[in-house]
Amino acid sequence: MKINIIGGGPAGMYFAILMKKADRAHEITVYERNGPNDTFGWGVVFSGKTLRNLRAADEGSHAEITRAFAAWDNVDVVHHDSKISIHGNSFSGIARLQLLKILQRRCEELGVKLLFRTEVHDVDSLRARCDLLVAADGVNSTARKQYSECFAPSLDVRPNRYIWYGTKRLFHGLTLTFRENEAGVFAAHSYKFNKATSTFIIECDQETWDTAGFSAMSDDQTRGYLERVFAKDLDGESLLSNNSKWINFLVVKNQNWFFENVVLIGDALHTAHFSIGSGTKLALEDAIALFERFTATESVAAALGDFESTRKPVIEEYQAAAYESMRWFENARAYMNLSPLELAYSVMMRSGRVSYEDLKKRDPDFIAAYEEREAGAGGRSRRQTADGSEE
Ligand SMILES: Cc1cc2nc3c(=O)[nH]c(=O)nc-3n(C[C@H](O)[C@H](O)[C@H](O)COP(=O)(O)OP(=O)(O)OC[C@H]3O[C@@H](n4cnc5c(N)ncnc54)[C@H](O)[C@@H]3O)c2cc1C
Repeated sequence: MKINIIGGGPAGMYFAILMKKADRAHEITVYERNGPNDTFGWGVVFSGKTLRNLRAADEGSHAEITRAFAAWDNVDVVHHDSKISIHGNSFSGIARLQLLKILQRRCEELGVKLLFRTEVHDVDSLRARCDLLVAADGVNSTARKQYSECFAPSLDVRPNRYIWYGTKRLFHGLTLTFRENEAGVFAAHSYKFNKATSTFIIECDQETWDTAGFSAMSDDQTRGYLERVFAKDLDGESLLSNNSKWINFLVVKNQNWFFENVVLIGDALHTAHFSIGSGTKLALEDAIALFERFTATESVAAALGDFESTRKPVIEEYQAAAYESMRWFENARAYMNLSPLELAYSVMMRSGRVSYEDLKKRDPDFIAAYEEREAGAGGRSRRQTADGSEE
């Protein structure tokens, strides 16, 4: 089969790897507008379950990915200078660039043709020259735009602003930090993804953003302002910019996932708010799901139909949970009067995917402390100062 793929991100390259590994006779070309070493983004995060899926799909890249991983089992919630840790959550982080390099090497090893610095403008002519065209061209997908009548996308621009930084301050766990100042409420999502660096994403609502005056600030002024907001958390380290800009999260859905021989995967097909885990996980799992359809049939039409009918319910459920989580952060202001323990509980329950029983199983001490607090018993709370020491 001749397969063209637009986009050398995680979705496009992983699908290329799985197809080529299964049948070396496939002729697979990936068209990528960037160079192989362009650094975009900081760390990406995976759950233990995603890692098991990656091992089952391709042991070679899984081994390399896990060697490069920073792993942790705690979610830390920082509020009113107190840190509450909730254990029993298995996550790992890796630098986005490192992940891309591993996938690039694996593609080259298998004989997938990677064409860097090659932007696709004419999707139609590319699709005419292959059996299958996979549009893995990210959140602003050119293919989705060109065939919008066929895919019928819905694009929902969310009201919160967020900005993606790195920092040398190491956050040993998925850390959610809430800080208030005269402008409003800021939430930071941070986690270390290698021995020396953490991702640090900051989000705030529009009112906070306007009051702080970010529209009139340069990139350096914005960074300086946010370093002051999170001064206690950054512990003297600066925020590292990678051409970081404020963005509004875009929720992408598509009514139709394919037409004729063209299919969307990854961010081009759907997005899920970063607070519930990275889009990278969904991008890789899309690639696995699409590949699996081709192990059952050689017919492109049948495989794409099966892909849509089997994967869509999974994605819809995931996007529904991500929506609840995103809404929680959009309304974060309303939760700021909660105690640190209550806020931590609310954060953990926000998506509706974790039940009270799940949480009790994962971290019985946390639930016991929460229940005691709720019952007004006081006493054995797990309050800690922001530097991690017991109060
Ligand atoms: C710039 C950027 C930085 C990010 N940083 C992080 C991060 O640090 N942590 C995290 O968890 N998530 C990050 N994300 C989000 C996360 O990586 C995505 O959810 C995930 O990468 C989705 O994978 P994907 O392969 O579907 O799309 P992407 O990773 O976006 O890959 C799409 C690829 O297609 C290429 N492309 C697009 N249009 C064309 C075209 N017309 N012709 C040729 N090539 C094209 C792009 O250059 C890109 O490499 C980032 C996304 C982007 C776009």
